[in-house]
Amino acid sequence: MARRPVKTEDEPEPLSQCPYCKFEIPETRLDCPSCKHSLPWCAASGKHMVINEWSKCPKCKMCCNYTEMKRVLEAEPTCPLCNEEVSPMQVKIVDDPNREFRELIDLMKDSTNQAEEESKDGEGDD
Ligand SMILES: [Zn+2]
Ligand SMILES: [Zn+2]
Repeated sequence: MARRPVKTEDEPEPLSQCPYCKFEIPETRLDCPSCKHSLPWCAASGKHMVINEWSKCPKCKMCCNYTEMKRVLEAEPTCPLCNEEVSPMQVKIVDDPNREFRELIDLMKDSTNQAEEESKDGEGDD
């Protein structure tokens, strides 16, 4: 993860909030300089996810930012991930973005934990 941020002198990048800590960061940054988390990204744009834009492809359930997904589907009504036909009308902001976010974080954790040794178990239940 030694990727350097690309500097664009002429066009300052728009900022949007980190879904973890609400810190305003450039929308294409996938790691937050404030909370150091790596961020889930929008399937439609590659930008990091924004809580109040949280939506999903109705077909493949991949998360995406509402505005970005709408824009993609209005140009061509096909999900960029699953290539299924999806009308822009079908994309909606989820009812409980924070829950969706937590669920996604859990999934991301699971996939990184698999590499760790399995001998340590115990806590983690409340
Ligand atoms: Zn953050
Ligand atoms: Zn899809």
